[in-house]
Amino acid sequence: MEKYVHDIVIVGAGLAGLRAAVAAAEFGEKLDIAVISKLHPIRSHSVCAQGGTAAVMREKDSFDLHAWDTVKGADFLADQDVVEFFVRQAPKEIVKMEHWGCPWSRTPDGKIDQRPFGGHTYPRACFAADMTGFHEMHALYGKAITYDNVRFYDEWFATSLIVEDNSAVGLTAIELKTGEIHVFQAKSVIMATGGHERIYEFTTFSHTTTGDGMAMAYRAGAPLMDMEFVQFHPTGLVPSGVLITEGARGEGGYLINVNGERFLKRYAPEKMELAPRDVISRAEQTEILEGRAFTSPYGPYIALDLRHLGEEKINERLPLIRDVAIKLGGVDPVKEPIPIRPAAHYSMGGIKANIKTETPIRGLYAAGECSCLSVHGANRLGTNSTAECLVFGAVAGEEAAKHATSTSFHEFSQEKVLAEEKRVFDGILGSEGSERVPQLRDEMRRLMNTKVWIFRKGDDLESALKEVRELEKRFKNIKVEDKGRAFNTGFTAALQLDFMLDLAEVTIMCALARTESRGAHSRLDYPKRDDEKWLVHTLAYYTAEGPRLEYVPVTITKWQPTARKY
Ligand SMILES: Cc1cc2nc3c(=O)[nH]c(=O)nc-3n(C[C@H](O)[C@H](O)[C@H](O)COP(=O)(O)OP(=O)(O)OC[C@H]3O[C@@H](n4cnc5c(N)ncnc54)[C@H](O)[C@@H]3O)c2cc1C
Repeated sequence: MEKYVHDIVIVGAGLAGLRAAVAAAEFGEKLDIAVISKLHPIRSHSVCAQGGTAAVMREKDSFDLHAWDTVKGADFLADQDVVEFFVRQAPKEIVKMEHWGCPWSRTPDGKIDQRPFGGHTYPRACFAADMTGFHEMHALYGKAITYDNVRFYDEWFATSLIVEDNSAVGLTAIELKTGEIHVFQAKSVIMATGGHERIYEFTTFSHTTTGDGMAMAYRAGAPLMDMEFVQFHPTGLVPSGVLITEGARGEGGYLINVNGERFLKRYAPEKMELAPRDVISRAEQTEILEGRAFTSPYGPYIALDLRHLGEEKINERLPLIRDVAIKLGGVDPVKEPIPIRPAAHYSMGGIKANIKTETPIRGLYAAGECSCLSVHGANRLGTNSTAECLVFGAVAGEEAAKHATSTSFHEFSQEKVLAEEKRVFDGILGSEGSERVPQLRDEMRRLMNTKVWIFRKGDDLESALKEVRELEKRFKNIKVEDKGRAFNTGFTAALQLDFMLDLAEVTIMCALARTESRGAHSRLDYPKRDDEKWLVHTLAYYTAEGPRLEYVPVTITKWQPTARKY
């Protein structure tokens, strides 16, 4: 076991982690920065972002309008001071990305083009065709590797965060190539590990988004906030779940039921296909439950019709979508509608952090999807996530740099490191039980898909909680067949399932406790929003007996909650 020492360790090399690395490197060339990623950075899920990045770029638009759209979209659960800061910073990030080489799509007169997106009252999504994340990631990675003081540890898997006296002092990570575990010492640690959507069966997210950083922070004592709020995206391609960007509706696509009806006129008559995602997903799910969906061997589906846009526009604005629909859906959107249904798409919850990305653990920062600041409250608007990653990735990099400059290294007990080594190698890799990881993982995902989906009920959630705890018990009796150390994917799958089971349990507990419907959390037994009791954030703390919940107020600056109609 080696010990690596860096002033700042960033876990995650998606948009948030890379942006943090650039900000920290620019803060001071004497700072020594490490970026640890279980994937090559360019394989992070951020590369899949399609539709765009929200920012106010025109005089007709305004910061107040972007903030209001975000707060209303969030069903008033967002912290408004954070939202106000976020909307002001976003345009600066767009310009920086431009300077670093992101090829934004253009208007005929050469301005950065913007397209409409759900819940935004102005077309403010800057985009690079329908491969926005791909281009942003290449621009940022290209920038990050120019700094001599940033060292990348690609294909290193972080397993635990080390905390002493409520300070983050380092972490343990497995080098996947050798399978050896090593320890990192740091003055500041930034978690930028992305979402946990893979706790669900039908999702738009990569197989690698397993919430590791959330689980590591939670186990080390940091609270997770608002984990009951999971976003379901209206257009997951059937059967794979691969995303069909909301940009397809932004460009004018229609949603149609089996009767050929644009059913959204009954749910969101004003905004129609451009209502927020929670509203449209509930509408689709209702059409499915009431028998107005198409049927297929892969289950019911709704049709996304782009035919009226014409081949030229589809090729210019949505080339990836056409390609994906042909290759993975078996339909050419120029000629046929695309089969879709709602898919788990975003985690509004995450590691609790404040406007400076500081968590309650000193020296631990969180940015991007693994964090909850809270910009998105109970429901995120499309294109606000990549913008959040850039804005708060930069903040995290700077704040972590300031902290690292004004503090010294903290010693930590070797016992913690040895205990972690024992947990992963003896407890997980060495376990000789009879349960198989893929089996348990499938059961967890099916459970989340059936009982913790778009519409939720108390009795379903209670039985889901029992079942997930049963799975946690069975996990103790697993067997990883391959006992090798180098690139052992069965072993990493087990480590990831261990994290996901914790997060599934937290998600269910928080959903069960919140007896109201707000944003993406829709309770059939409590169909109304209840501001008297529930205009609060949920905090979940780790205990050996399961999560302990607390509640803290929402920060309201300008906008009092009102009825949310579209
Ligand atoms: C298909 C799709 C399309 C989307 N389109 C848009 C869009 O158009 N606009 C928008 O705003 N948002 C969009 N989103 C959402 C947005 O892309 C994500 O929320 C955002 O990119 C997350 O970035 P991140 O940096 O937080 O994490 P990620 O990009 O997920 O990166 C996580 C990083 O953490 C690392 N990591 C994780 N666990 C470990 C571990 N144990 N050890 C070491 N490293 C670890 C990974 O290697 C990776 O580098 C989309 C999402 C999807 C799935």
